[in-house]
Amino acid sequence: PVGAEAGTEFLNAAAVLQTEHHPAELLKTLHEIEALFHRVRTLHWGPRTLDLDLILHGESEASSPRLVVPHPAMWYRRFVLEPAVEVAPQMVHPILNESVAQLYARLMCRPLRLEICSTHHNEESGLLYEVLSHVRDFGDAIELSPADPESSIATNSFARIIVRQGTKPKTLQPFNRKGREIEVVGESVPDIVSQLEDLRMAMLG
Ligand code: ADP
Ligand code: MG
Repeated sequence: PVGAEAGTEFLNAAAVLQTEHHPAELLKTLHEIEALFHRVRTLHWGPRTLDLDLILHGESEASSPRLVVPHPAMWYRRFVLEPAVEVAPQMVHPILNESVAQLYARLMCRPLRLEICSTHHNEESGLLYEVLSHVRDFGDAIELSPADPESSIATNSFARIIVRQGTKPKTLQPFNRKGREIEVVGESVPDIVSQLEDLRMAMLG
């Protein structure tokens, strides 16, 4: 489980469906199936009996608060890509233009190179260094290095993490960002640090 309140272990699985439903209709059906499994939505990212997420829908792209497709975190979550590569290695992520197999191979590179920067270099570079000083043991599997927000992501980097201090958006899923960017928004340094730890766990765990 990712997140302090996520509860005990999960079983993860991926399935390929053939459907004539649009992404929004399919998500509604997935929620109905969750309800049949007595899922009660109390705590976001809390323990749940069943969580059905829509990872890819052909080459569709959607970004509304109710539905974001491709799922914005699918390309950096090992627990998503590992089962997905078993059933849909050739499916293509329409924004990153890479197949599930390619995304998985990238994620399994060691060390995994992550760049980190903050949105407004001058005002927020203090924030970045404070955050980095609190990120204790990211381990050998990840190489985390500060980056210049003006430059584009290096070709050998897995992802660029953009740190911002502010109020978290109300929507539960972040929108897809361009390129291989992951935005981390937090109200305080400890909040941001704990989100980075969750991110590390999502990538490696
Ligand atoms: P999570 O799956 O992130 O742990 P939930 O299952 O509680 O969280 O879903 C949170 C919300 O995310 C849902 O209300 C749903 O409308 C929205 N959502 C947006 N995009 C997707 C997607 N691709 N798959 C599943 N839910 C999504
Ligand atoms: Mg879900």
